[in-house]
Amino acid sequence: MLVVGGGQAGFQVAASLRADGYDGPVRIIGAEHHPPYQRPPLSKGLLLGKMDRARLLFRQPSFYPAQAIELRLGETIEAVDRQARTVATSTGDVLDYDRLVLATGTRVRPLTVPGAELDGVVYLRTIDDCDDLARRIGEARRVVVVGGGFIGLEVAAAIRLLGKPVTVLEAAGRLMGRVVAPVISSFFADLHRERGVEIVLDARIANLEGEAGRVHAVAMADGTRHEADLVVVGIGVLPNVELAQAAGLRCENGIVVDAHGRTSDPAIFAAGECTSHPNRFAGGFARLESVQNAVDQAKAVAAAILGRPEPYDEVPWFWSDQYEVKLQMVGISAGHDRQVVRGDPAQGRFSVLYFKEGRLLAIDSINRPGDHMTGRKLLTAGSAVDADQAADETFELKTLLPA
Ligand code: NAP
Repeated sequence: MLVVGGGQAGFQVAASLRADGYDGPVRIIGAEHHPPYQRPPLSKGLLLGKMDRARLLFRQPSFYPAQAIELRLGETIEAVDRQARTVATSTGDVLDYDRLVLATGTRVRPLTVPGAELDGVVYLRTIDDCDDLARRIGEARRVVVVGGGFIGLEVAAAIRLLGKPVTVLEAAGRLMGRVVAPVISSFFADLHRERGVEIVLDARIANLEGEAGRVHAVAMADGTRHEADLVVVGIGVLPNVELAQAAGLRCENGIVVDAHGRTSDPAIFAAGECTSHPNRFAGGFARLESVQNAVDQAKAVAAAILGRPEPYDEVPWFWSDQYEVKLQMVGISAGHDRQVVRGDPAQGRFSVLYFKEGRLLAIDSINRPGDHMTGRKLLTAGSAVDADQAADETFELKTLLPA
């Protein structure tokens, strides 16, 4: 068993195979030099220096030899020979496989404006990026964050908590615009502004200005400028499909897999955010960038490899922590034709329920964990939810759950 990728999905496939009784050899090939670790704290607790580094690892290093999982770090797979069932590694080795699992993840989308290569323009994806960013924030006088998505906003919150001035430049007309309702975008814009973040919407960056190779300002298309000696870019990610593509596997916004993570080659599986998979909650194929997807899809892959196939069919959920506010999302709201608000945004505790043709699609909750947990169950069960009833805060959503 050869697993390409030592992230959340790759780790989970290997761990589930062992936990579920697979006793053949298991290898994980990881490009980074660290044993598999959680990424969510990189833009939260770890960046703030509030999290013990050892807790970042899924398992301590001794777990891998104890479980007879060979962990090869700092190595990448350059090519797959499907006929010979071998892979070529960056260190010149050729490794054979019986089953290959591609858990290659995503990489940051690069900013392409002139000046983007200057020193002081950074991204956050890995533990090494996080260490570098924490050091740079400590030395920075003024920071610009490009992108008002999850990374941009969580990093902006951390920068404010660390006491530095920060401006967020978001290309769209509102924050996290692709995933949440306008009422949630406004809530977070107000929250960040109250904490001293300058937020610029509809931002068009012309170029980055530098001196002696170091960034010192962001120049906008409208002629305005934002001084910055540190620019953090969080403008999304791109799926790592090149290996799969070169091997002739079907790729379309990710490596295309079925509900068991099977690619177009029966010996090759894929899991995590590099895959495009059938998802009933998305109403078609979806590529999901989340911990939930990585874990649950990896478990489905392990089950299929072990000959006990259980289709991946879990309701998608996501979360984001910004300051003391917790945003929890369940379901996929894209395509909704109605939204109702439950609770009071002014009180900082509310949920938005999204409906399509009267059917509940998704719930986003701010500081209302009960709505989120009930939402997971309602969406999993496909329970009927009346929009008007749901908008009434005194109505208990959990009474709609099947007995
Ligand atoms: P993201 O959530 O896709 O947000 C990127 C944001 O940047 C979008 O709002 C996008 O606007 C904007 N943008 C794109 N190009 C821009 C430009 N040239 N100038 C200014 N703004 C621009 O991606 P991310 O925040 O970079 O996060 C990366 C990955 O980490 C994602 O997979 C994300 O889900 C994950 N992550 C998740 C969490 C969490 O769940 N809590 C936290 C951190 C990171 P448009 O929509 O208009 O393109």
